[in-house]
Amino acid sequence: MTDTAYASEADAKNLSSTDLDFDPFLDLEEEINSLRQEKNAVILAHVYQDSEIQDIADFVGDSLDLSRKAAATDADIIVFCGVRFMAEVAKILSPGKTVILPDLEAGCSLEQSCPPDKFRIFREAHPDHIALSYINCSAEVKALSDIIVTSSNAEAIINQIPKSQPIMFAPDKYLGSFLARKTGRNMALWPGTCVVHEQFSLRELVRLKTLHPEALVVAHPECPENILREADHIGSTSSLTEFVITSDAPEFIIATEPKIIHQMEKLAPGKTFIGAPGSDGCIGCNNCPFMALNTLEKLYVALRDQTPEIQLPEKLRVAAEKPLRQMLVMSPLKAVTGTSRPRAVA
Ligand code: SF4
Repeated sequence: MTDTAYASEADAKNLSSTDLDFDPFLDLEEEINSLRQEKNAVILAHVYQDSEIQDIADFVGDSLDLSRKAAATDADIIVFCGVRFMAEVAKILSPGKTVILPDLEAGCSLEQSCPPDKFRIFREAHPDHIALSYINCSAEVKALSDIIVTSSNAEAIINQIPKSQPIMFAPDKYLGSFLARKTGRNMALWPGTCVVHEQFSLRELVRLKTLHPEALVVAHPECPENILREADHIGSTSSLTEFVITSDAPEFIIATEPKIIHQMEKLAPGKTFIGAPGSDGCIGCNNCPFMALNTLEKLYVALRDQTPEIQLPEKLRVAAEKPLRQMLVMSPLKAVTGTSRPRAVA
């Protein structure tokens, strides 16, 4: 499932206190704040990061928000608290900056499902197709693609492609199927999945809904279709967050990585959020093992030592930049791929 050396989230976190070289009595928040100023660094964090990392970041957002921030920042150093493909995007869009990822082993199951040599064969098998790739892929796969999309802007970008143009989509088959249903386009799909979203259990979700009849279900389109059919709102992490803020409902079941609930609780105080259950019935336990590799301790050490740094061969960076810039050009300023099903709230 993962290419990391850690068997579990707990193992990864334990490493931060035992193997890292730092004074355990330091006030890490204070140290990070002074290093950030001294080095003119910006800390970007994905909404799936630990709450303490989200709280110290300069900016918290989804892949699209973070790539826009990375492209626009005037900081000298970008500390990217997310997974490797996201930090690579920051380096591709801001080659003159030092881009640091607190744990270089923070990969992604979608990225791993799509090796560049096999993707090249897939591409060659569809010579008349335009290649759309979800941002959750390696720099090599980006370089072989025509346009990159995120779950926020994919629908809007597909709708700009002439209907006569066949589309191939990689690497998430569930997001691809969702987009095909929404846009009415017939797309050739790569068979990748996210380890977090494919583990939600329909049976447990239905059981939870009966216990919380007032709760609305919000789901990320990386979920399988049987989970999406139970959702009142489907969308990117930004779209889900916006929905829970603006909805009148008092309670929500969240079918995406549960650490997003930290932002939801901050932005929609007074509402109740319940993580959707996984296949083991555990509620809100579907943590991403890759995102979990980053810790506050590793963030401090990475900023202090300016390592591990993301490096990409210039030829690869330039090739991967083209479809990413195309995405930024085609992406509406307020891009939200979201869809709601009307439901009376008691
Ligand atoms: S939540 Fe899924 S898609 Fe996101 S980084 Fe983790 S494995 Fe990849």
